[in-house]
Amino acid sequence: MIGSSVSEAAANLKAGKLVAIPTETVYGLAALIRLDESVVQIFKAKNRPAFDPLIVHVPSLEAAKPYIREVNSEAKKLADAFWPGPLTLLFEKSDQVSDLVSSGLPTVAVRVPQHEITLRLLQALGEPVAAPSANPFGYVSPTTAAHVAQQLGKEVAYILDGGPAKVGLESTIVSCLNNEVKVLRLGGLSLEQLSEVLGYTPELQLSTHSNPQAPGQLDKHYATHTPLYLSDAGLEELKTRMKPGQKWALISLNPLADLPEGCTNYPLSQSGNLDEAASKLFALMRNLDELKLDGIVAERLPDKGLGRAINDRLHRAAYRM
Ligand code: AMP
Ligand code: MG
Repeated sequence: MIGSSVSEAAANLKAGKLVAIPTETVYGLAALIRLDESVVQIFKAKNRPAFDPLIVHVPSLEAAKPYIREVNSEAKKLADAFWPGPLTLLFEKSDQVSDLVSSGLPTVAVRVPQHEITLRLLQALGEPVAAPSANPFGYVSPTTAAHVAQQLGKEVAYILDGGPAKVGLESTIVSCLNNEVKVLRLGGLSLEQLSEVLGYTPELQLSTHSNPQAPGQLDKHYATHTPLYLSDAGLEELKTRMKPGQKWALISLNPLADLPEGCTNYPLSQSGNLDEAASKLFALMRNLDELKLDGIVAERLPDKGLGRAINDRLHRAAYRM
C-alpha cells in the first residue's frame, strides 16, 4: 500500500479510491475531481469542514484550461514563472468543477506541483485531482509517506512514495482575480520571489476568520498536541514557563547554547538557512509531539524569505497568550 507505482496510483484513483501523492510542498490526499463520492471521502477522511475548498492539481497551465474561465495577464506571468512549483492560483471556475471541490465558491484554486512522479501520475490520468494536505484537519501537514501512513493509513488505498518533501511548507496561495494580485496564504514561494517577477510587492490578505477565504488560515491549525509557545526570545520564554523536573524542547533557527536542565534545543538549520528550516519544520513538530514533552517553545525566525511562512505556521500552531 506504500509504493512508487504510478499505474497502481492511477488505477486506484480511476476506481474512485483515495491516493496519497508526494509533492514538493507536503503530501496530498488525492481524488479525481470528476467523482463526487471520492471528493466527499477526502473531507470525511480528514474530518475537514465542507467550507474549506480543495486545491486542484494539474500537470500544466494548459491542462487547467477546461476547468477555469480565463487566464489574465498577472496570472499568466506568475504561472509561467513559478509552475511547476509551490504556488497556488485562484481562477473563476468553469462548470467542470463541482461545488464540492470549491466549497460553493465561484472560484477554484489550481496548482502544478513540482514533483516528477506526481507529474507523471497527472499526465497518465489525463484529468485533475483535488488534493489537500494528507493529515487530519488541524494537525501538522505530512512531509513523508510514513507521516501519511501513521495518520491516514486506513483511509487511503495507496500511498505514492516520492521521498521527503523538498520545500516542506504548503503552497503560497495567490489570487489574481480582476488582475489584482493578493497573497491569501504565505507558503513555499516567498514574497520576495513573487515581488521580483511582478515588479511590485503584492498586497497581503491573510484572513484569520472562522470562515476564511483560505482555510489553512484558520486561527488554530498546523498544531501539535503538545502545547507550543512562540516567542521572540526563546530561552527567556522557556525559563519563565518550565517547572523543575519538566522536559521541554526549544525550536530555533540556529543552535543555541546554555540551556537549562531538562531542555533540549532543536535547531532547524546549522547555518541559519531558511529553506532548510522550512523543509525540516513539520517533521520536527511531529517528532517532538511523540516525545510527550511538557511543552515546546519556538523562537520566531527572521521575517524574510520562507521565515515569514514558517512564523505564520508556528503562530497558528501556538497557544495564544
Ligand atoms: P491545503 O489543505 O493545505 O491543501 O489547503 C487548501 C487551501 O486552499 C484551502 O485551505 C484554502 O485556503 C485554499 N483554497 C482553495 N480553494 C480556494 C478558493 N476558491 N478561494 C480561496 N482559497 C481557496
Ligand atoms: Mg492542510
